[in-house]
Amino acid sequence: MNSRAQEFEIVIVGAGPAGLAAACAAAESGRSVAVLDNTPWLGGQIWRGQPAQPAPPGAQKWTERFRCSGALLLAQTSVMAAPRSGVLLAEHPAGAQEVHFQKLILATGARELLLPFPGWTLPGVVGAGGLQVLAKQGWPVAGKKVVVAGTGPLLLAAADGLKKSGACLVSIAEQAAWSKVAGFGLKLLAQPGKILQGAGLKWRLSGVPYRCGVWPVRAEGGDRVRSVTLTDGRKTWTENCDLLACGFNLVPSVELPLALNCELRDGFVRVDEWQATSVASVYCAGEPTGIGGVDCALVEGQVAGLAAAGRQDEARRLFAGRARWHRFRAALAGAFALRPEVAKLAADDTIFCRCEDVTFGRVKSFNHWRDAKLQTRCGMGSCQGRTCGAAARVVLGFGMESVRPPVLPVRVASLMTISFDAAKLNEIEH
Ligand SMILES: Cc1cc2nc3c(=O)[nH]c(=O)nc-3n(C[C@H](O)[C@H](O)[C@H](O)COP(=O)(O)OP(=O)(O)OC[C@H]3O[C@@H](n4cnc5c(N)ncnc54)[C@H](O)[C@@H]3O)c2cc1C
Repeated sequence: MNSRAQEFEIVIVGAGPAGLAAACAAAESGRSVAVLDNTPWLGGQIWRGQPAQPAPPGAQKWTERFRCSGALLLAQTSVMAAPRSGVLLAEHPAGAQEVHFQKLILATGARELLLPFPGWTLPGVVGAGGLQVLAKQGWPVAGKKVVVAGTGPLLLAAADGLKKSGACLVSIAEQAAWSKVAGFGLKLLAQPGKILQGAGLKWRLSGVPYRCGVWPVRAEGGDRVRSVTLTDGRKTWTENCDLLACGFNLVPSVELPLALNCELRDGFVRVDEWQATSVASVYCAGEPTGIGGVDCALVEGQVAGLAAAGRQDEARRLFAGRARWHRFRAALAGAFALRPEVAKLAADDTIFCRCEDVTFGRVKSFNHWRDAKLQTRCGMGSCQGRTCGAAARVVLGFGMESVRPPVLPVRVASLMTISFDAAKLNEIEH
């Protein structure tokens, strides 16, 4: 172990709801636990630091429990690689360090799926959840005309947050058909808490048009977005806006699980009843195993934390609750599945890789993501394909063939500290 290495019995990557719940369960069992997160705070995407708004009750409860649990938060710590068995390499502002573990729980969450359409790179076109996060952190949206478009319940949560921050919501365009959204609403009857949440959202957003079966076809405006053209497949119309908040649901952050050789199934990390992955001593919880929302992430995190701490009997007691949230997760996936039209919006001259300025016309001339990357540099910019790689899967059916370190952007000086074992190096070179 080098001098800048730390060692814990259980290490958790991700301080969102899944990671927090896992940390509490494991640390309350008397294990030495560290949670690593690349942000400065606890709470992940939904509960991240909100100087502009008071923390919601769920966030307060879990952060308080975490603080009493004895688990350690290593904030601003980006896990960039897994160079050897039992070792993670992470970067924080003071430099790179190794973190050694006996058991590892991956709770790396998800990010928004952004799909290309003409004008999607104009200033003012942002992810729906992304804009909500900016607003939570105090970015001024008051008085701005905002169209929210895309798919999934996150659109409503984002619209609600933006309205609270003073934005003028023009409309919400949900690509899923009304019949599917209504069917999803009926399935919520099994989750009274979600019904209440939905009713609250509907009340707070009353007066804002919510149109189902509607999606954006282009954004226009010259130097920044000034309008968006929407369609329901039969007619098109244009709405003026200062901001277009647009997200097509979430994609799981599976780069680190892949770097550890965890098996995926249908794009998500495959886990067993204990949330254990295909790799010994490595568990996974929350959105990387399926997009199921905060309650699903919390229960999976608790099961993973208890199982990693050897408290299987207590973990088993959570199985029934988890099964309920898994049914909710399946209903979400069915209701908000993408219609084929939204995968066909990009024109040949639409920028597809925004880091490297590669057009859709160039990317689509290749049959594989790897060839497209090698020939055009798409996916090789600062986001390392996190945006265009996910879009390429939806739009062109390209699969992600491999993951190379770093799994998050880090400084070159940090990268130079990686010492891989020979087998790993061989794997990376091929
Ligand atoms: C932008 C955005 C906004 C959202 N807003 C809402 C909302 O308002 N309401 C709602 O109900 N749901 C919202 N969601 C969905 C919500 O995040 C999930 O339903 C749920 O909270 C997922 O919990 P999680 O613990 O699985 O992941 P997350 O909350 O995503 O937590 C994962 C954490 O892992 C960290 N991480 C990932 N990789 C690494 C690494 N390599 N090294 C270090 N740290 C790493 C991330 O920074 C993050 O803090 C949002 C999602 C997104 C993407």
